[in-house]
Amino acid sequence: PAEDLARFDVMLRSAGRIVAFTGAGLSTEAGIPDFRSPGGRWSRMKPILFQDFLDSDEARRETWRRRFDMDGEMRRARPTRGHRAIASWIKAGKSPAVITQNIDNLHQASGIPDDAVIEVHGNTTYAACLDCARRYEIEDLRGSFAATGEAPRCDGCGGFVKTATISFGQPMPEIAMQRATQLAKTSDLFVVVGSSLVVYPAADLPRLARKQGANVVIINREPTPGDRYAHLLLRGEIGDILGNFVLESGAKP
Ligand code: NAD
Repeated sequence: PAEDLARFDVMLRSAGRIVAFTGAGLSTEAGIPDFRSPGGRWSRMKPILFQDFLDSDEARRETWRRRFDMDGEMRRARPTRGHRAIASWIKAGKSPAVITQNIDNLHQASGIPDDAVIEVHGNTTYAACLDCARRYEIEDLRGSFAATGEAPRCDGCGGFVKTATISFGQPMPEIAMQRATQLAKTSDLFVVVGSSLVVYPAADLPRLARKQGANVVIINREPTPGDRYAHLLLRGEIGDILGNFVLESGAKP
């Protein structure tokens, strides 16, 4: 409703420190399916657990088959209206950084500097050795996977090479989680965008922000477990909603 959009407008303009916390729903408009919507990824396949990746050749091959299967949609994807609005808050100096559960690199593609994108679930647009952390480009792994069907191993140490994402059962990235926690605690407006808020520990962040005194706004097309403690719920399509909230650069409070 119009009065909710007006309330959000007032919150955005009066906030000194906005932090957006984004999930897969932000990128569906870019053609990347989310996990839990009908037709989302989990309706088609089960997640591969981190331990299975470590234990089984077949799990590693299947992980890489899936990664190359979605490569087309990943490379075609461009930042959405929602990505552009969030980038404008950062550019305007109203928001120090964005916290994202997404792994698609679209916040960086929208012009936000790398150090202002806090990725709590990693990034699938490159890969790394699990043992020595040597970085690999997806492009460079494609050829040998197509030729041999074998999951890549590290040229340096022989370790398993995996996309730089966090699988279920894999330890969370420590520095990113520390930065995300600090941002949640010190924000005065915390905006959840396109997350079902069921994956922990990331889903604790809005609750923490609320506890420390931030206004919490949830933008999503369906209800989430965070709705009961949010100050404002904007129910609808993210692009339609956030398309109205592009801030002009230099528009400091
Ligand atoms: P999720 O799939 O659990 O939830 C997405 C939420 O967004 C749902 O509640 C859905 O109703 C809503 N939604 C989808 N499209 C929308 C739209 N256009 N407008 C409004 N609402 C919309 O996603 P999650 O909470 O981010 O958790 C899933 C995990 O999957 C994340 O941790 C992330 O790492 C990973 N993931 C990432 C991507 C990506 O990088 N784009 C895609 C799929 C999954």
